[in-house]
Amino acid sequence: MQLRDNYRLYPAPGQRQALARAFGCARVVFNDGLRARQDAHAAGLPYLTDGELSSRLTTAKATPERAWLGEVSAVILQQALADLNAAYRNFFASLHGERNGPGIAPPRFRSRKDRRQAVRFTANARFKILPDGKLRLPKVGDVQVRWSRELPSEPSSVTVIVDAAGRYFASFVVNTEPGPLPETGSAVGIDLGLTHFAVLSDGRKVANPRFLRRAERRLRKAQKALSRKARGSSNRDKARVRVARVHGRVADTRRDWLHKESTRVIRENQAVYAEDLCVSGLGRTRLAKSVHDAGWSAFTGMLEYKARLYGRTFRRIGRFEPTSQVCSACGVKDGPKPLSVRAWTCAACGTMHDRDVNAARNILAAGRADSLNACGGDVRPGRALAVASEAGSRRGAA
Ligand SMILES: [Zn+2]
Repeated sequence: MQLRDNYRLYPAPGQRQALARAFGCARVVFNDGLRARQDAHAAGLPYLTDGELSSRLTTAKATPERAWLGEVSAVILQQALADLNAAYRNFFASLHGERNGPGIAPPRFRSRKDRRQAVRFTANARFKILPDGKLRLPKVGDVQVRWSRELPSEPSSVTVIVDAAGRYFASFVVNTEPGPLPETGSAVGIDLGLTHFAVLSDGRKVANPRFLRRAERRLRKAQKALSRKARGSSNRDKARVRVARVHGRVADTRRDWLHKESTRVIRENQAVYAEDLCVSGLGRTRLAKSVHDAGWSAFTGMLEYKARLYGRTFRRIGRFEPTSQVCSACGVKDGPKPLSVRAWTCAACGTMHDRDVNAARNILAAGRADSLNACGGDVRPGRALAVASEAGSRRGAA
């Protein structure tokens, strides 16, 4: 199974220039290919094959207008075309209904103003991790890496990324052999709620951590400061970088916390069931969207791939009944309850319920029922899986 591992890079000024050149060249190759396909389509000509685009690239490099493409590693140019091809394949598959999930937009042109620039080096490019810990990138140099943890195995490719805050990252694809954890008998249902980040059917409540709320307050403050700066001013540029920095820190902190929580849930349970966010009604309110959605989908994505990694079962439950209205003890639907009602007593059987724990128990029951009916595993690839994040222009990929 292929996973991604990200590390911070600290390129020297000259290396930053070389990387900027690489980002630019990859962008031009991607856009040239996209334009060629669009032009062919507009002219009623057949779809340009991957091979055709590749040979056009070779021809272009021999012309004076595109000769500068030779200044960067040829592999990253091929990989830019591979991104384009993957984006087209995903788009076609989505058109023909061969994909789960939300629809995929056709590939878009890349811009130097994109919030994220990236190039990919494969093994063919002969990138190398040196004994002194630096990362050797062809036609860039030996770049300093902060190894926050050890790579689990030899990486098969590395994507170099610069984000809106000007931070550089190396994202390695590594092959990891799933090592099943010792089996446990327990199964758990998870309700993603508004008062808590998550509530488990065993009664455990995972609160939104205070440090995250603090970080989010800082972010809102930085955003407000940005909105007060005059358009086009240098102060506005500075404020924008500051927002991006705070944003990056919030995202990092949240990711670390989500990793800890998701690992714990997977370690303690043999089967994990969570509500499907597409079905959940909570996404409808704007508040829920801004505060929780990103965290939740990252969390369930982590549960999904960790379940695979450690030999656990993970399933998303599409709920058609509002789980907070149904009594988990007797199954009677007790009627709608405003969010302010945190606890209630079932009129039919007299059981006293905590609203969220009851919902989590219903999710667990639905998951168990689903498992009995299902034939074979149905775990879709999560976002942390390398295959899913490889394509260049997934909608919403940032
Ligand atoms: Zn009841």
